[in-house]
Amino acid sequence: MVEVPDLDFGPSARAVAAEARAWLDAYAEVGLDFVDMGGLAPKGAWVDLVREHRWLCLNWPTEVGGRGLSGLEAAAVDAEFRRAEVTRPRLGMGETLVGPAVIVHGSEEQRAHFLPRILDGTDRYCQGFSEPDAGSDLANVQTRGVVDGDELVVSGQKVWTSWYWDATMLFALVRTNPQAPKHDGISYVLVPLQRDEDFRPTNGIELRPLRQISGEAHFAETFLDGARAPLFNVIGGLDNGWKVSKTTLGNERGGSAATQYLRFETALHRLIERVQREGKADDPVLRQRLAWAHTHVQLIRYGGLRTLASLVDRGDPGPSASISKMLWSEYDREFGELAMDVLGADALTFGDNDGYQPTRWHTQFFGSRSSTIWGGTAEIQRNIVAERVLGLPREPSV
Ligand SMILES: Cc1cc2nc3c(=O)[nH]c(=O)nc-3n(C[C@H](O)[C@H](O)[C@H](O)COP(=O)(O)OP(=O)(O)OC[C@H]3O[C@@H](n4cnc5c(N)ncnc54)[C@H](O)[C@@H]3O)c2cc1C
Repeated sequence: MVEVPDLDFGPSARAVAAEARAWLDAYAEVGLDFVDMGGLAPKGAWVDLVREHRWLCLNWPTEVGGRGLSGLEAAAVDAEFRRAEVTRPRLGMGETLVGPAVIVHGSEEQRAHFLPRILDGTDRYCQGFSEPDAGSDLANVQTRGVVDGDELVVSGQKVWTSWYWDATMLFALVRTNPQAPKHDGISYVLVPLQRDEDFRPTNGIELRPLRQISGEAHFAETFLDGARAPLFNVIGGLDNGWKVSKTTLGNERGGSAATQYLRFETALHRLIERVQREGKADDPVLRQRLAWAHTHVQLIRYGGLRTLASLVDRGDPGPSASISKMLWSEYDREFGELAMDVLGADALTFGDNDGYQPTRWHTQFFGSRSSTIWGGTAEIQRNIVAERVLGLPREPSV
């Protein structure tokens, strides 16, 4: 049993946590083998059971199948799953990035149409924000969206499209008004990524996988040539996509702030076990670094609760999401280095006669290099903190 310190989030959180605990007492065993697939829409018996008993999409309105929980109530439920040592699955970017934007900016009809489809697994999303010339400067997107009757016709190139292989929808930022100032002519559109019988994309979309050092091809270049989306799929209105994207980005950086620390805590415990097993626990430098890691996991934890509090107060995590992202992503990189140092020579030799097979530690290490990049780089988070939290002058535009 994992020690989860009791934080009292109030009577309603206590009530739903008790409900979760009773449910887990009855069912947790089914989920013991479940591995969280990160952004991929997970499938399988455990996910179906969790879905059936409505422990997915906890913050979503009850009328679309969520539980309508506040951030604090959801954090209390997650603490119970953690105590039972099972993963509470997430439905990828559909749940964490698209759903919140549709809830805040979508019409009633859009909420009723798109949210249940995410929840039941029909729509699985990948993100089409970045372009070759629009990364940190995201408002520079050049992919065009042209209105044709009751459809938007989308052409251009996106890049770094994660979780593309399983996706059936692409949520994209496209330029619908090239005459307007750059932040004002963008729309946020949900483009169908239909597949043929071999699961190849149709609708004028081509996906070209990009292979990484780990051997995986986690993301793709996405080429759109006349891809069609109903105008109904434009969230927040034509040319109003920048505002909608901020809700998505706030959730990408700070949405899971309250539970983010859990994966770091689990990894740290695993590393400490390894240090002890290998008789390295007396090494004074290693002890210092492990103590540093423990302190940071706790800082991430309590910082995450502060982000959650602004989520509760303001409805979105605001600039404190940037503080949270800076803290956890830079910790993640540092922890990756620490894990490699603990592995020693084993860090350099992996794979066997069957070829290149990175261990869990290597995958974590490679992944940690990207944490300070995706969702907005560490430098961009610092700019946001400087300008929107500390009130320093805006950086000069180039
Ligand atoms: C693992 C991973 C998954 C990703 N998944 C997706 C996805 O699914 N969909 C998607 O759309 N995108 C995705 N991305 C792309 C990601 O959002 C971009 O890489 C990121 O926004 C940075 O943009 P860029 O790569 O163009 O770098 P650039 O914007 O070219 O930045 C290059 C360097 O310059 C620095 N820099 C740039 N501007 C400033 C400034 N104003 N002040 C200070 N420093 C600055 C940056 O910090 C960085 O160090 C993913 C990236 C990674 C690593």
